Amino acid sequence: MPHDRAARLESGENSDILIDLMALLSILCYPDARLNKIARPVEAIDARLKALIGDMFETMYEAKGVGLAATQVDVHQRLVVIDVSETRDQPLTLINPELLWASDERLKGEEGCLSVPGIYDGVERAAQVRVRALDENGQSRQIEAEGFLAVCLQHEMDHLAGKVFVQYLSRLKQSRIKAKLCKQERQAQQETARQREPL
Ligand SMILES: [Zn+2]
Repeated sequence: MPHDRAARLESGENSDILIDLMALLSILCYPDARLNKIARPVEAIDARLKALIGDMFETMYEAKGVGLAATQVDVHQRLVVIDVSETRDQPLTLINPELLWASDERLKGEEGCLSVPGIYDGVERAAQVRVRALDENGQSRQIEAEGFLAVCLQHEMDHLAGKVFVQYLSRLKQSRIKAKLCKQERQAQQETARQREPL
């Protein structure tokens, strides 16, 4: 999910130099079918996984996001990174997260997604959840969450199940969003093609 509305204005600015230095991962964009893959459980918390966690945090912070699921970077394992703090210094790693409980009380908030750039819409979610997951050291922990963190946990865990938030919206809205994002993609490709033309 993006950090906030103001931040998303900056999120399109990518520096090629930063990408080279920081091992930023590319984020799949809806309606890419790979976003609908179901993630498998993580089997080992090894050096490779820890490197992936580091790269996912860097990618999330650089994109001004508050959460990123491995599915979004085309790694289909049950891994999510989150930081909903204003100060951007409270990283939360969830490996093999499980939803233990969700409240009957619901709330409807406006959501966005790093895989659906520029689109925000209302989604109804459980107001409180309890989630169990392993942290980056393999320690099992339970997280009781409400409000924005609860929404974020549900949003990111949906990604692991192959679900993007726009799938909660009406079919009409979904087709409009697809058309808009496909148009942006075409324009970006044309822009790249133009830049490649010899002078
Ligand atoms: Zn998302």
